[in-house]
Amino acid sequence: MADGAIERESMEYDVVIAGAGPAGLAAAIRLKQRCEETGQDLTIAVLEKGSEVGAHILSGVVFDPKALDELLPDWRNDPSQPFDTEVTEDVFMALGEAGSATIPGFGMPPFMHNHGCYVGSLATMCRWLAEKAEAMGVEVYPGFPADQFIEEDGVVKGVITGDMGVARDGGHKDMYQPGMELRGKYTLIGEGARGSLSKQLIDKYGLSEGRDPQKFGIGMKELWRIKPENFKKGRVQHTMGWPLGRNAGGGSFVYHGANNQVYVGFAVHLNYENPYLSPYEEFQRFKHHPMIARLLSGGKRVAYGARALTEGGWQSIPQVDFPGGALLGCSAGLINVPRIKGNHNAMWSGMQAAEAAQKAIAAGRACDRLTEYDTALKTGPVAQDLKRVRNVKPIWSHYGIWAALGLGGLDMWWATLFGRPLLGTVKHRASDAADTGKARKFKPIDYPKPDGVLSFDRLSNVAFSGTNHEESQPAHLRLTDPAIPIDVNLPEYAEPAQRYCPAGVYEVVYDGDGQAPRFQINFQNCVHCKTCDIKDPSQNITWVTPQGGDGPNYPNM
Ligand SMILES: Cc1cc2nc3c(=O)[nH]c(=O)nc-3n(C[C@H](O)[C@H](O)[C@H](O)COP(=O)(O)OP(=O)(O)OC[C@H]3O[C@@H](n4cnc5c(N)ncnc54)[C@H](O)[C@@H]3O)c2cc1C
Ligand code: SF4
Repeated sequence: MADGAIERESMEYDVVIAGAGPAGLAAAIRLKQRCEETGQDLTIAVLEKGSEVGAHILSGVVFDPKALDELLPDWRNDPSQPFDTEVTEDVFMALGEAGSATIPGFGMPPFMHNHGCYVGSLATMCRWLAEKAEAMGVEVYPGFPADQFIEEDGVVKGVITGDMGVARDGGHKDMYQPGMELRGKYTLIGEGARGSLSKQLIDKYGLSEGRDPQKFGIGMKELWRIKPENFKKGRVQHTMGWPLGRNAGGGSFVYHGANNQVYVGFAVHLNYENPYLSPYEEFQRFKHHPMIARLLSGGKRVAYGARALTEGGWQSIPQVDFPGGALLGCSAGLINVPRIKGNHNAMWSGMQAAEAAQKAIAAGRACDRLTEYDTALKTGPVAQDLKRVRNVKPIWSHYGIWAALGLGGLDMWWATLFGRPLLGTVKHRASDAADTGKARKFKPIDYPKPDGVLSFDRLSNVAFSGTNHEESQPAHLRLTDPAIPIDVNLPEYAEPAQRYCPAGVYEVVYDGDGQAPRFQINFQNCVHCKTCDIKDPSQNITWVTPQGGDGPNYPNM
């Protein structure tokens, strides 16, 4: 919410968009396209917290081009377009500790297959989309986080960018610059999974009332350059089973892009109970499976990153409009979990919100609710995509992976053949934070030490994410009650932040004999995945935007 105390410069736009991901950029481009068709002249600003567009973007990515085909139908003929690798091979496997078995493709309905999709870098795609948007007259501002929203009379009227030059103690350094107000007739929020403004807006306007709780996963990814003899351009492989077993839902992906580069990733559902589980260590262990070790042998890790993904699907989508604006893409939780794909839905949602905003402004409206966007989202292609897979994730959570494959597969086939799932709508029960079990019910997991060749410790991997935060600023990871990590989380849950954070930000430090433990936050290492904001069992950690441009610097993740 806006603070009244600081004098700020203010700029007026028709539409202000927070986040230059596929959702925000598709919205900006569609707005300008409608301007070209109607002769309207709309001013549009896109704010991005990364140092450049794409710097905080991390995805697989196997890209389903359906929405891009609608946004820019001629994109394949553009010499600068970002995808040159079509999917050539699509493999789904169950892993045991030493072996593997291929799961036949006919078990899954046709929409689950990846043929017709592309392998590539989502960061590169976003940079390309941003160039298109700028060429059409959109103002794109990387390095400017939308830190607060402006709220007047219960209506959102824009955002305030983060202040620069705030000292560690909250005072102002010599180079202090207050953030600017960007006011808009409509404010579109495309921050991705667990956005810091989205979370506040969902709470403030009760947007999730009557919906299931949002569910999340954490996705970790390394980019590897491998030996040419191991490389198969366009091969897409997903696995489930080892090493997670029954400890958690999730699995791996290995995508062969171009130039001997493979995207090796691992996702863990954040509803796991065992607080000793470390998603990061599971990922590292996965690479020691003989099949993966062979693939990576002689290769080199080039980059690392992590990001939360939304997994609630259809049951968890909030009301996507609020007074003065709307939530887009993964801010609204639009990932199709069994397909591990959200980019097409993010883009469709951006386009639909843009169309609603453009028509509303043309009709002389401003700062009201874009309910027509909510209707379009929940009856159009996004709804169609998510409804038919809606039961796979809750079945997986309640009954395990084999039920998800068997019953979930049958349910998807039923939905494909008869237009609605066999099981109606299976509910998600609780938040991922609430799913965390007490430490006394579990045994610590003894993870193998990284070998520095295939597996790496967290800090050496963070160095491959290009992460940087100005050290003399307040930590952007806020504890509501600073005593909770040691007084509650440590005795009850063995303080799981030490393990769920994929960047080693949280430590319980014992300074010496007889000294009480203390909780240390190395915020400089944070890769902005948002897992702590989601998984802390006491819901005591709030992720806020750090100084503009800080965070990871992913080149082509
Ligand atoms: C490991 C992993 C693998 C995935 N694999 C695939 C895949 O293969 N295929 C697929 O289709 N999908 C995949 N997804 C999902 C896909 O990445 C998302 O669905 C998609 O990126 C959502 O787009 P978005 O624009 O909503 O959000 P994002 O892509 O997250 O973009 C949000 C942007 O907003 C910026 N931002 C956030 N908050 C602020 C703020 N307050 N102010 C300014 N800027 C802000 C962020 O820095 C970012 O640039 C994967 C996700 C993960 C994590
Ligand atoms: S501190 Fe939180 S947001 Fe940052 S990397 Fe760790 S878990 Fe992710």
